[in-house]
Amino acid sequence: MVNSFQVRDRFAAGAQYIGGQLRPGTSGRTQDVVNPATGEVVFSYAPAGTADVDAAVAAARAAFPGWAGATPGERSDALHRFAAVLAERAEEFAYAESLQCGKPIKLSREFDVPGTVDNASFFAGAARQLQGQSAGEYSGDHTSYVRREAIGVVGSIAPWNYPLQMAAWKVLPAIAAGNTIVLKPAEITPLTSLMFAQAATEAGIPDGVVNIVNGLGAEAGEHLVGHPDVVMTSFTGSTQVGKRVAEIATATVKRIHLELGGKAPFLVFDDADLEAAVHGAVAGSLINTGQDCTAATRAYVQRPLYEAFVQGVAELMGTLRIGDPFDESTDIGPLISYAQRDRVAAFVDRARDTARVVTGGEAPENDGAYYLPTLIADAAQDSEIVQAEIFGPVLVVLPFDSDDEGIALANDTPYGLASSAWTRDVFRANRATREIQAGCVWVNDHIPIISEMPHGGYKASGFGKDMSVYSFEEYTQVKHVMYDNTAVARKDWHRTIFGDR
Ligand code: NAD
Repeated sequence: MVNSFQVRDRFAAGAQYIGGQLRPGTSGRTQDVVNPATGEVVFSYAPAGTADVDAAVAAARAAFPGWAGATPGERSDALHRFAAVLAERAEEFAYAESLQCGKPIKLSREFDVPGTVDNASFFAGAARQLQGQSAGEYSGDHTSYVRREAIGVVGSIAPWNYPLQMAAWKVLPAIAAGNTIVLKPAEITPLTSLMFAQAATEAGIPDGVVNIVNGLGAEAGEHLVGHPDVVMTSFTGSTQVGKRVAEIATATVKRIHLELGGKAPFLVFDDADLEAAVHGAVAGSLINTGQDCTAATRAYVQRPLYEAFVQGVAELMGTLRIGDPFDESTDIGPLISYAQRDRVAAFVDRARDTARVVTGGEAPENDGAYYLPTLIADAAQDSEIVQAEIFGPVLVVLPFDSDDEGIALANDTPYGLASSAWTRDVFRANRATREIQAGCVWVNDHIPIISEMPHGGYKASGFGKDMSVYSFEEYTQVKHVMYDNTAVARKDWHRTIFGDR
């Protein structure tokens, strides 16, 4: 832990990062950042008003020609330096992320921060690999080729569950492709996005390429999405807010990328390695205290393994150490806020009449926003606890009989972000990977992500991809260029206009 990191001193000049400078927001409000493990206010700031969003967009617009005009090699060099600065500051980032989110420090250190550094390294390389289709004489009389070009100022909105990684997933592909960006993090977790933008400046990325506006969704967020100088909206958050964002973006004819909610199925066939499935279910459902859009939330277990799975998961959940996020032995931290803790508790309470709480189902007695790891059995497939995104440490388990039934149940929610299948049978695994409707299917694991592979949803989980070179499809546009090769004044096709004259 870096005790010297003093949030208030560091952001005394304000929590808006516009054109390479910190400044206070002009909304006239005050927003607190609360450590959810203790309830202590660690930082208060003035959120962005619409004038701050305008200033950030103007800074991004001014920086665009220079940054888009840099060579891929120059952008790549800057991103390599950016990755190096992030790596040097790893401990500071881990501390700030755990402070504002209540994440166990081992999660921040071993997942959030190294994942972010790796993303920056990946996009440093990928910046030199942007490709258009090869040139050719497709008409016979012309040479055609495709240019892949940056699109302009991107407006991005991020959630609070992985603030640093979400900043990285939004900013890195956008700027690697030559765009400039205004990012609005969730208002309750502003710190690591600001530090991320400062690191970009320190790495030599020009002022105005990365701008951060910390403000409320309905104010700064909506103004950013509707801004006429923003050409694309990239949003990660709930499906409900995503619909609102899509409405505003559509009204101003913007390109839209939506990464929305999830309710990932965890499908255990009767030949699975039970110990692996039990450990995978507990780790996959409780990572980040279950506040993970890809978390395992619905375990479907084939009847012969069902009772042993329920017992194994309940026992293992009971062994986890819940406590101070800065204690290196802590496995599970608090939820992001007391409001989120109460929301999760209300879901579980509403399920009690029709389902069985096998373990957990209550808040431990302490000052933080904690909730015990919870396993729920005997719920109906169409019940709220099975269908709705809870975003907390709650796993629901249901039995199934035939493989057909298991796959049908896995697909039976509006969401389609992530999923996993647990089996030692290659044919079953292959069928599950084909038939599960989700942007990711893990086989015999649940959660790992890597920079080279795309992350994004099917169905109500959204569209478009973060990470990997697939993200460049969102952040670039392709242009057809066509040269005449005949050098004649009267082209053959002019007959359609001039006839035989
Ligand atoms: P949220 O939708 O409440 O907020 C997300 C962001 O949108 C925040 O920055 C918020 O300030 C902003 N916002 C709120 N109202 C807005 C409006 N009217 N206009 C513009 N912006 C607005 O989500 P959350 O509670 O911060 O995060 C949890 C949600 O995020 C979950 O549903 C989770 O599944 C989802 N999520 C999805 C992914 C993914 O990759 N698909 C990743 C992480 C989180």
